[in-house]
Amino acid sequence: MQNTEALKNYLSQIGCELADEKIACLLSFCDRVLEANKSFNLTAITDYTDFLIKHVTDSLLGASEIPQNALVCDIGSGAGFPAMPLAIARDDITVTALDSTAKKMTFVAESARSLGIKNIKTVAGRAEDQKKLFCSFDVVTARAVSSLPILLELAMPLLKVGGLAVFYKTDESELAGVSNALKTLKAEHIGTKLTALPNGDKRAILTFKKLAPTPPQYPRQYGTIKKKPL
Ligand code: SAH
Repeated sequence: MQNTEALKNYLSQIGCELADEKIACLLSFCDRVLEANKSFNLTAITDYTDFLIKHVTDSLLGASEIPQNALVCDIGSGAGFPAMPLAIARDDITVTALDSTAKKMTFVAESARSLGIKNIKTVAGRAEDQKKLFCSFDVVTARAVSSLPILLELAMPLLKVGGLAVFYKTDESELAGVSNALKTLKAEHIGTKLTALPNGDKRAILTFKKLAPTPPQYPRQYGTIKKKPL
């Protein structure tokens, strides 16, 4: 009960109201992550309050940027953030959690099955290798995965033209270095939501739009993307 009230309170501070069964589902997912974390490393955050704020509440900061019924791909989802809280909070969307670590995707898939969450799928693999998924999504999300130019190169191929990339950052400082990536990948920065978590930590949700098909030479191999980011 205490956790239920705590999570409701944190979510209300970011303008997110959810039905009791969704709050219960989010809490069950937290329990699963923290339990699994004892046997393999999923998160460095193990304090329950911190977990509710820095993982669950943070993941839902991007929910308001996602259009109705969107097909969403979460790149580098890890233990399922923000993919799982978004899927739980928004029945209308379908989320594909994508991560190069197969073990993490197995954890997310098993959690979804046991919690009865039907609007989430998992793909184990690297974002830049998912040719079959290119041009498939209305929204791509990513949190704590890499720098903005790299994220843009990973995300744009996965989006339909007109689709949105929603990146979770602590501030907007990286925007200064993305003009070349945006021009090259035919994308545009369309919004910045500056906000804070209930503990005062600053957050920035940066939104980009895919304006035209991604030139066929992108994404490059990950080694090249990292060595020579756009
Ligand atoms: N988004 C989660 C996890 C962040 S850790 C969270 O916020 O808690 C970064 C994750 O990105 C790792 O699990 C790593 O395996 C994954 N990752 C990094 N580069 C990737 C790529 N190119 N394609 C798919 N997954 C990637």
